[in-house]
Amino acid sequence: MTGTTQDDYTDRYARRVRGMTTSEIRALFAVASRPEVVSLAGGSPYIAALPLDAVGEMMSKLATDMGTTSLQYGIGQGTVELRERICEVMTLSGIDASNGASPDDVVVTVGGQQALDLVARLFLDPGDVVLAEGPTYVGALGVFQAAQAQVRHIAMDADGLVPAALEAAIAEAGGRAKFLYTIPTYQNPAGVTLTEERREEILDICERHGLLVVEDDPYGMLSFEGEAPRPLRARRREGVFYLSTFSKTFAPGLRVGWILAPHAVREKLVMASEANILCPSAFAQGAVTQYLSTMPWREQIKTYREIYRERRDALLDALEDLMPAGTTWTRPDGGLFVWATLPEGLDSKAMMPRAIAARVAYVPGTGFYADGTGTDSLRLNFSFPAPERIREGVRRLAGVMEQELAMRAVFGPTTPHRRRGPAGADAPGPDLA
Ligand code: PMP
Repeated sequence: MTGTTQDDYTDRYARRVRGMTTSEIRALFAVASRPEVVSLAGGSPYIAALPLDAVGEMMSKLATDMGTTSLQYGIGQGTVELRERICEVMTLSGIDASNGASPDDVVVTVGGQQALDLVARLFLDPGDVVLAEGPTYVGALGVFQAAQAQVRHIAMDADGLVPAALEAAIAEAGGRAKFLYTIPTYQNPAGVTLTEERREEILDICERHGLLVVEDDPYGMLSFEGEAPRPLRARRREGVFYLSTFSKTFAPGLRVGWILAPHAVREKLVMASEANILCPSAFAQGAVTQYLSTMPWREQIKTYREIYRERRDALLDALEDLMPAGTTWTRPDGGLFVWATLPEGLDSKAMMPRAIAARVAYVPGTGFYADGTGTDSLRLNFSFPAPERIREGVRRLAGVMEQELAMRAVFGPTTPHRRRGPAGADAPGPDLA
């Protein structure tokens, strides 16, 4: 077909693709990457904090000394060496042999994102229900939408997922809920953490209703105040899938993550992964294995924690000093994000073009809901910009909000206030990590 237009393909798309829509927000993100814009929109770790020379040297040795394995195909589950190292890493969070963690039940994935995709492939049929926090990780929404599942959001408060709301959602789903997808620690995007007591309560509820738990934990090691509560998987071994990644503790460019699966399903996961990617990158696995074997990775995590703590403080201080009255926000003890709720009547999505014009970017709250809610909130990232840039970004954002509030006071609402909209309109992309 020569000279075809987009329309020539529209009717041919698989049903799962039809819900994938682009949005005006995506176009704005292209502008947001310009250097004059302070981007509080991303989710990128501060890679410049890595000892890049040493990492580079390690990588070049990987090709010269171990090229015949590191540049070759590998096995679908991932190398034994890396799976052993992953078990060592999980020990720091309290997931160890005493609660049944073993390299045999680890599947190496292409980042945490493929781990989510594999779980969806394994369990979701079209029309199935996934229960997830509201708001939740935008990349998970994309995966569940591609699986043609329905996401039902469950309320959170400052202590994380609300157990009574989970009970109600399970009852309402009437047996169609396949699993609970949760990010209990330093949640993306809300920045809140599920308390110790609620961890037990949530696990009890899921067990009572026979609901599987998919625990996504990319941020648990990035704590700023003491250690994070132990993951759900450290408390229950059956019925819990534990997903994590080296994206935030080492480097996202290598795209290495993992699933610790209940033993009975590990084989199916490997088959699903082989159908998807044959095997994870041998080179990337070798790089992570070498990094964990030869470099001070625990110290590096401490470095990330210190940098992010300082940046979190810069963001919280700037919000405190500069935000208009009526704005509220979360105070994360770790991770990369703060979730802000705007004063009555402001719409984060409608405000975005004016924010970009004022040279500041954020992610509107709607991106983190499957049902278009979230216009009253937005996500702010503090891991990537330097503290003074963070403050400048908040100053610009506050200026835009003040202007919007002043306009509203004179002319009434300037844009329709849409609380609900199309599902997945702000589908995932690198800016929404
Ligand atoms: N889960 C959550 C909650 C995330 O925030 C992210 C990335 N931002 C991922 C999964 C995907 O991680 P990765 O980059 O390892 O694919």
